Amino acid sequence: MTELSLDLRGKRGLVIGIANGASIAYGCARAFRRLGADLAVTYLNEKAKPHVEPLARELGADLFLPLDVSQPGQMEAVFEAIQQKWGKLDFALHSIAFAPMADLHGRVVDCSAEGFGKAMDISCHSFIRMAKLAEPLMTDGGTLFTMSYFGAHKVVPHYNVMGPVKAALEASARYMAAELGPKGIRVHSISPGPLKTRAASGIDHFDELMARVEAEAPAHRLVDIDDIGLTTALLATDAGRLVTGSTTYVDGGYHIMG
Ligand code: NAD
Repeated sequence: MTELSLDLRGKRGLVIGIANGASIAYGCARAFRRLGADLAVTYLNEKAKPHVEPLARELGADLFLPLDVSQPGQMEAVFEAIQQKWGKLDFALHSIAFAPMADLHGRVVDCSAEGFGKAMDISCHSFIRMAKLAEPLMTDGGTLFTMSYFGAHKVVPHYNVMGPVKAALEASARYMAAELGPKGIRVHSISPGPLKTRAASGIDHFDELMARVEAEAPAHRLVDIDDIGLTTALLATDAGRLVTGSTTYVDGGYHIMG
């Protein structure tokens, strides 16, 4: 039997989406690190940098680079730096989302073409771009992660345009899993239950949603970023070697309830 590994020692991964210590991406980065991985960490822009830099330092990140996925060339520069530093990549986490406020707070029926396009580009197509750049570096196979939400499947009040965007993200992950599977590259959508982050603060009545989930989820508690991080990191180990294309819920079981 081949040697199987339940840790990430000797593995190298890219983490996109840390804004601060409450970010889901930070919980994942901490878990990847706990399992022994080396990390490259990105920050949105100069304004975000002072909030992310101490966390990247604490994580012992080998690379700390700017990345606004709406800026042409920036994602290519990140992967070029990874190629120079490591020459390969084992996993990459995409944990970002954006929708213009006017579109996020309105009905899907009223969503502008521009707002819909921007939300799709930053929250969904950037994952596809990330996979394309990661593919040639994943010479021993690898794992790609993106963060979705239950609103992709069911209508969640106030989630609005992000519902169709996350549905497209999960469908993209399935197609990418089929296309990249022969190269040993796995693709996962992780679907966390609600938790207070900066991105979540843009969603109306978010406190009511959290209260509902806490009351109705089988676990009767809300998830934290370490819960999400540990599940995600384990899927990057050999424990997840034949798991791909699916959506993994880390939500205390809320999604099974009728
Ligand atoms: P967060 O605010 O900590 O993270 C969102 C990140 O998106 C930030 O780091 C921000 O810089 C980044 N981002 C936005 N526009 C960008 C761009 N143009 N280029 C690069 N990065 C950009 O919030 P979070 O809740 O940790 O969000 C991470 C992911 O988790 C998102 O996809 C979100 O939809 C998803 N999610 C969140 C929850 C929740 O309840 N918080 C639940 C399920 C899924």
